[in-house]
Amino acid sequence: PSPIHVIGGGLAGSEAAWQIAQAGVPVILHEMRRPGVRTDAHHTDGLAELVCSNSFRSDDWEYNAVGLLHAEMRRLDSVIMACGDAHQVPAGGALAVDRDGFSNAVTERLHAHPHVTVVREEIAGLPPADWDSVIVATGPLTSPALADAILSLTGEESLSFFDAIAPIVHADSIDFDIAWRQSRYDKEGPGGDAAAYVNCPMDKATYDAFIDALLSGPKAEFKEWENVPYFDGCLPIEVMAERGRETLRHGPMKPIGLTNPRDPTVKPHAIVQLRQDNALGTLFNMVGFQTKLKHGAQAEVFRMIPGLQNAQFARLGGLHRNTFLNSPRLLDRQLRLKAMPRLRFAGQVTGVEGYVESAAMGLVAGRLAAAERLGAPIEAPPPETALGALIEHITGGHLDGAKFQPMNVNYGLLPPLEAPRVDAEGRRIPPKDRGRAKKRLMSLRALEALDAWRGGTSPTVAA
Ligand code: FAD
Repeated sequence: PSPIHVIGGGLAGSEAAWQIAQAGVPVILHEMRRPGVRTDAHHTDGLAELVCSNSFRSDDWEYNAVGLLHAEMRRLDSVIMACGDAHQVPAGGALAVDRDGFSNAVTERLHAHPHVTVVREEIAGLPPADWDSVIVATGPLTSPALADAILSLTGEESLSFFDAIAPIVHADSIDFDIAWRQSRYDKEGPGGDAAAYVNCPMDKATYDAFIDALLSGPKAEFKEWENVPYFDGCLPIEVMAERGRETLRHGPMKPIGLTNPRDPTVKPHAIVQLRQDNALGTLFNMVGFQTKLKHGAQAEVFRMIPGLQNAQFARLGGLHRNTFLNSPRLLDRQLRLKAMPRLRFAGQVTGVEGYVESAAMGLVAGRLAAAERLGAPIEAPPPETALGALIEHITGGHLDGAKFQPMNVNYGLLPPLEAPRVDAEGRRIPPKDRGRAKKRLMSLRALEALDAWRGGTSPTVAA
């Protein structure tokens, strides 16, 4: 078969190239980093360089969604997981790696593979027309020449975003004895639902304490390369609070047009709104709560909000530069650009977040491209798997009209399951342990669905 071209030798591109080569298809990997050429975040020429932390996060496949993603990727012969496992450093339940050992191992394995050719060059525009199968895996710091070329194809206004993200909460951790569902003025929200929002009321004393906590909480500092101005439309909440103690009450926390059904006569002093974030209704984002509070402080400050006192966060807020596609509009389920199907996308640029998630999308893109090249195209993994849930998130699982935002893998992206009341032996599970038991059932369901998807042909690897 003729070669598939992969642009970008980061986490996603390295994994994609490996999967293609292992399928017996030749692959040319184009990476722009070489002596003297770097990105703003990379420090070496190594493939799959980890730009910041050295952690692949939890390795617990039974109770943690990223651990489940590790397990799925190991079953699919992931080079990123194999090299991560081989270069582990002690980190409790997490999988942390020796960053140089890891990157060197990925580089060596790809260079040694008979089907892989690595070329050190920037692809500074649309790939040549005779490259009929290309995977673009150029990451959050995609070089401007390529980003501009993609922009001109998609007709989007922007590809690089100053990414201000608000926290996302698991719906089943919201206290509905305090919170209630209602849209402002009972207007229909996304999905045509007049009760699309969840409302958390605050009295004056709680509001004052909350503003104090916002103002005094530790803030993350910006790196030089993140020096992008923010628009008034997406100011971090603590910056709004600095402009005046009443600013939030007149902005994202305004209490007008809403009535607390438990006490319609009392007007709340302020109201925090959450908006449904995924089609399954398992995740809600905090409207207007983009923040640069340090992650550790966020959970503590946001749990001061009545109704969120036990909130579990699927994602915390943050601000950073990021380059990603409006994938739900632009990509098909094969991760191909609808406007130019010879281009597939993988990694952070598709709107997933994190090393493991980026590599995971490289793995899927590589397999899909190789199967297509061999004349036997395959479907993406099913949504019950962590891999498939990420594909669903980037190609359609989010609500119409909602702003598409990058996301780490989490159980809220998988189709929901009832929390079990009894275990496999018929013993009653206490209510406090049911959420945990549900995660394990979702993980088992995922691995079963994954094995069915790969046809049971690969040897079973212990999870
Ligand atoms: P990358 O790993 O960045 O790979 C893209 C590759 O494409 C690079 O090697 C680049 O040189 C190359 N490239 C770009 N343009 C071209 C071109 N035109 N031609 C040829 N090659 C090109 N995630 C975490 O899980 N933990 C963290 O601690 C973390 N920290 C981060 C810190 C920063 C500063 C940033 C920006 C992101 C961070 N992320 C983190 C998010 C994300 O997981 C990483 O960015 C991850 O590297 C994304 O993988 P990728 O393969 O999509 O992109």
